Amino acid sequence: AAKAAGRGKHCFYEPSMHSEAADRQALENDLRQAIDRGELEVNYQPIVRAASEEVSGFESLVRWNHPVRGPISPAKFIPLAEECGLIGSIGHWVMETALKEAAHWPSHVRIAINLSPIQFNDPGIVDAIAKAIDDSGINPGQVELEITEGVFLAEGESADETFARLKNLGVRLALDDFGTGYSSLGYLKKAPFDKIKIDQSFVRGAASPTNRNSAIIRAIVTLAESLEMETCAEGVETHDDLALIRELGCSHVQGYIFGRPAKPEEAREVANRSRVEADGFQCLREPRH
Ligand code: C2E
Ligand code: MG
Ligand code: MG
Ligand code: MG
Repeated sequence: AAKAAGRGKHCFYEPSMHSEAADRQALENDLRQAIDRGELEVNYQPIVRAASEEVSGFESLVRWNHPVRGPISPAKFIPLAEECGLIGSIGHWVMETALKEAAHWPSHVRIAINLSPIQFNDPGIVDAIAKAIDDSGINPGQVELEITEGVFLAEGESADETFARLKNLGVRLALDDFGTGYSSLGYLKKAPFDKIKIDQSFVRGAASPTNRNSAIIRAIVTLAESLEMETCAEGVETHDDLALIRELGCSHVQGYIFGRPAKPEEAREVANRSRVEADGFQCLREPRH
């Protein structure tokens, strides 16, 4: 434990936790080397215009192929990266990789990038984003940064200024996972979001007559429209849910029904299609999780 303490926040220790703590420490050590060893990759999931089924863009989603343990979910290793100080370098690598990839797509196709609250609060973030956009040669208007409500919790003094500087770069801002967490409506007036992404937990099974999710989605769409923001329903898997999402007026849809996160070559091919059909694009390489 003493050894770990020197490295930062990982410092608790109890005998009963030995194997869990040791496991975590091992994973942290592996993650530290993952970029250099080429174990990370970025996959791209289509985001589709609900009415026309045109490909609006892709969300970049990082993948870790651990040499021994196999694929590890970002839901597990991103929080670890945030806790042990690695999110800055991983996030930067994802951004550079995704922007370079998106430079191969038609210029109307957007690239969405998840920005951890820790990255957002890094004083150098705006300059780093500006440089990555410049290096890639992409148009800033093609870039959409996905931010969660977490940025408002750990809010640095300069959050308002960061939002203003990001808008000044010409990038788009999306509020991710809306409806989970704290969902204060105050957040919507604080930051100049272009899009609200409605969390999967409201979308999945919303077409079932016994649940109240469709009323909630309808309210979010009304709110977004009056604030002139787009809406994206996340996690649409079935034709029933897609039909309901359209009826409720969401402008964008993302989910397995239109495609799973895909390898860059496959995403490039999809980016060049004028539209993508529900169930028409299957990424067989990524198992359902
Ligand atoms: P997120 O940003 O909300 O990303 C959407 C997640 O939903 C992705 O999971 C995606 O694969 C999954 N998904 C999309 N459509 C469906 C569907 O129809 N059904 C189901 N069951 N799932 C669907 P993934 O790739 O495992 O990522 C999980 C979370 O990890 C992301 O949630 C995001 O919070 C984080 N993450 C992933 N990549 C990055 C990254 O590069 N940077 C940061 N900071 N976070 C990332
Ligand atoms: Mg996201
Ligand atoms: Mg999300
Ligand atoms: Mg999510």
